[in-house]
Amino acid sequence: MSAYPGPLKNLLDELKRLPGVGAKSAERYAFFLLKDEKADALRLADAVRAIKEDLTPCPECGLVTDEPPCAVCRDPKRDRGIVLVVEQPKDVYALEALGRYRGVYFVLLGTVRLLDGVDERQLDLKPLERRLRSGEVREVVLGLTAELEGDQTALHLAQWLRPFGVAITRLARGLGPGQRLADAPRSSLEDALLERRPIAPG
Ligand SMILES: [Zn+2]
Repeated sequence: MSAYPGPLKNLLDELKRLPGVGAKSAERYAFFLLKDEKADALRLADAVRAIKEDLTPCPECGLVTDEPPCAVCRDPKRDRGIVLVVEQPKDVYALEALGRYRGVYFVLLGTVRLLDGVDERQLDLKPLERRLRSGEVREVVLGLTAELEGDQTALHLAQWLRPFGVAITRLARGLGPGQRLADAPRSSLEDALLERRPIAPG
């Protein structure tokens, strides 16, 4: 039987759900919070609550924001003629940290899991379709993880995009197989962005 009182055990269990946090780290964080000032510890609780309650997907690109449309879509200096399709919000943050990309984004929120038998219809492409139908898009860049699943998604998207008559490219060399965009070194990301290559119509 655990000697921890219920609330402490609950906190330990919740902390252990976080990636990379094992029993030892969970104890370290929990005991820190236990002896922390109440107001300081509750700021953490409030911050967690706020990302779940105050953030919504941007109706135009899917990036999380507390003020839709998001800062990128609101920025009049961004080039709406180029749409970079990425899997996750954190890919956008990695690219924005580079400061080299001036187009807009579309966040897929997960790749099509064709191999798991999950259908591509689960992707909500409507906001992207609206953007394409507006006629201002010249190029769609696919910035998906270069692994099998990402490739399937890229293929599906390329097919879906063809009738719109825009240039379809993908991020080029620099990103190794299976490498997540957000985890790529800065220089690789820059190369991949600058040397994008067209996807041949198939
Ligand atoms: Zn947006």
